[in-house]
Amino acid sequence: MSAPALNAPAERPGLWGWDRPRLEAWFVARGEPAYRARQVLSWLHRRGVEDVSAMTDLGRTSRAVLAASFATARRLPEAVFRSADGSEKAVFRLDGGATVEAVLIPEEGRNTLCVSSQAGCPIDCAFCATAARGFERNLEAHEIIAQVRWAIDRVGREGLTNVVFMGMGEPLANYRAVAAVCRLLLDPVAYGLSRRRVTVSTSGLVPQMHRLAEELDVALAVSFHAAHDVLRDRLVPLNRVHPLAEILAACRHYLACRPDRHVLVEYALLDGVNDSPDEARALARLLRGLAVKVNLIPFNPFPGSLFRRPEEGRVAAFQDVLTRAGVFSRVRRTRGGDIAAACGQLAGEVRDRRKHAPGAETPCPSPRAA
Ligand code: SF4
Repeated sequence: MSAPALNAPAERPGLWGWDRPRLEAWFVARGEPAYRARQVLSWLHRRGVEDVSAMTDLGRTSRAVLAASFATARRLPEAVFRSADGSEKAVFRLDGGATVEAVLIPEEGRNTLCVSSQAGCPIDCAFCATAARGFERNLEAHEIIAQVRWAIDRVGREGLTNVVFMGMGEPLANYRAVAAVCRLLLDPVAYGLSRRRVTVSTSGLVPQMHRLAEELDVALAVSFHAAHDVLRDRLVPLNRVHPLAEILAACRHYLACRPDRHVLVEYALLDGVNDSPDEARALARLLRGLAVKVNLIPFNPFPGSLFRRPEEGRVAAFQDVLTRAGVFSRVRRTRGGDIAAACGQLAGEVRDRRKHAPGAETPCPSPRAA
């Protein structure tokens, strides 16, 4: 048996996931000027150059140290599925074997990318295909950026107009990586997206909602799905840890920090469960006085799901109650249903449902334990 190679490189971090403050600190710690970070980010994210030796405005020593310290190879999708409506779903296989999915949705005048932030999801919402597959681990920032790069391959850098963290996982349970990706998406040296076009969604992880309000200038979407705690405890088990009153307080904090914003309220309509006019009235009362827009999402069934999609008449009646109460809402059109890419249908593949990657952030207080 041959001996292990001396000085074999340890596993290197993925350079694609390092945001500007972190990369500047890295260069400064090595006695180099902070502006090197801007140069590197521009090569990677603006020009799509992953070969460090081609970053010609860096000195030879800088390039050698960078190449030795970081992994720069891009992760490409294992498979891509195309919907008849023009949406595309990319499947990425991660180290460790799990798969995650990203969906690119072309619309009139814009292209929206829906990214995954976790392999599986620990929140366990009753109506969600991702939850049905269990939870494996948080994604690294570079694994989320790989999804962004795929979208740019498809529609170009200027063509990618919106990024929403609404794919697999609870984004705020992976705060560190999601925050790094948001900073890269907003950074003019990297992607330069408008702060209104980067949306982070949450099922109500309240401490991280407060943190996001203070630290990140992005749009916030909150999945309510019910207007009272008894029902929400059933649909979103995290509610037993952070009930609606706490979530509303966190929304107020966000709006106080970002007075020019509104909160996007996500509400999946489940036939006979939360779609009655009474529920709509309760939702309107709950949201009174808050700057919100409501997204109504008629449930998209998946194999084995226990819920049904309401008929259009019930959806229209629900929306009508909100409108009369002065709450703006729109009904989200189903996209990518024929490739299991519609809202709530992303499932991926999780190899070990109990496993946490070493060093991964604690996903969230366990609703099951509550
Ligand atoms: S709806 Fe979102 S938060 Fe809930 S289990 Fe599915 S992916 Fe997780």
